[in-house]
Amino acid sequence: MNAVCDLNHFAKAKFDEPGRQRALDRLKVVDSRAEPPFERIVDLVKTTLNAPICAVTLVDNDRQWFKAFRGLNVDHTPRDVAFCDHAIRAEAPFIVEDATKDARFANNPLVLFEPHIRAYLGIPLKMPDGYIVGTLCVIYQEPKAFSEHEIAILQNFANLVVGELELRTIAFTDGLTNLLSRKAWRDRVEAEIDRAGRYTNAGSILLLDLDHFKSINDTYGHDVGDLVLRKTAEIVNAVLRKHDIVGRLGGEEFAVCVANAPASVGFAVAERLRAQIAALAFPDHPGLSCSASIGVAAFEPGATVDALLKQADEALYEAKRMGRNQVRMGESAALPSWTD
Ligand code: GH3
Ligand code: MG
Ligand code: MG
Repeated sequence: MNAVCDLNHFAKAKFDEPGRQRALDRLKVVDSRAEPPFERIVDLVKTTLNAPICAVTLVDNDRQWFKAFRGLNVDHTPRDVAFCDHAIRAEAPFIVEDATKDARFANNPLVLFEPHIRAYLGIPLKMPDGYIVGTLCVIYQEPKAFSEHEIAILQNFANLVVGELELRTIAFTDGLTNLLSRKAWRDRVEAEIDRAGRYTNAGSILLLDLDHFKSINDTYGHDVGDLVLRKTAEIVNAVLRKHDIVGRLGGEEFAVCVANAPASVGFAVAERLRAQIAALAFPDHPGLSCSASIGVAAFEPGATVDALLKQADEALYEAKRMGRNQVRMGESAALPSWTD
């Protein structure tokens, strides 16, 4: 009896939700667009296990979000009804053979209503850092017992999902700063602009370039230049909110998409970034200081990510021309006319 209590206590103590959420955030995968490797895996699982429903689920703060799914018509559900939220607490495959006979799930809206879950098998997606970020799961609308063979098949596919999550992290992340690389940033912002356009949300793009960075390299060496880049990334991460999209576009140029906020907020964020970068101190290099120039472009109907980047770049150029260490707002981008 005591042993059981101790084991439960141990399992609870080990489930570190803040750490788990940070591990998921590091993947920068939630709300990303559909990607072929994950689409192929859910197709394979669906046919191999003859499952009407299959999903790669990532368990985020208060919802489960599906990176890829078949047989469902929503891309997320609230976390409190998610079978997968149970699965991520299990270090092993999580099996429900008949949800209507299981007190934990019998009154669950996903059982009573669409998609009418009866049987569920979820394999935790355990990343190499030990955190479980979601599951690969299959769902049946009839009761079902799962064989060892079926569980092993889904486990193997779950291993593939984990590998793909790692690969996309390497491909989409800048190694020096851990920010998104140019292409990944651009893809994410494109999706955000689409979404903002659909809901007529405001937003803005900030383009930040460190001033006279070449002379920092020349004076202090490339390693110190790298340190300045990492410190700049730390500031950008600290100032921005979780849903803002931050990237290193190349060299000493960073870009931020401030989502769901008027351009005045984007400008204020840019000003905070500028002030904090100018205040950076380097105890090992007392003479070293740095600054940044920032151009800001506000979302406008019909504007593409490239048009907004161009507008922010012109504002950045103006900030440089006016003496650096300052923020400039871009002029409204002229939208292409039909007669062009
Ligand atoms: P400006 O104020 O006009 O922006 O001048 P700048 O010196 O910052 O701009 P410039 O484009 O002349 O120089 C950028 C330098 O950034 C040149 C390049 O060697 C350096 N750089 C690019 N990538 C890296 C990197 O990953 N690490 C380091 N340490 N330096 C880099
Ligand atoms: Mg520069
Ligand atoms: Mg530059």
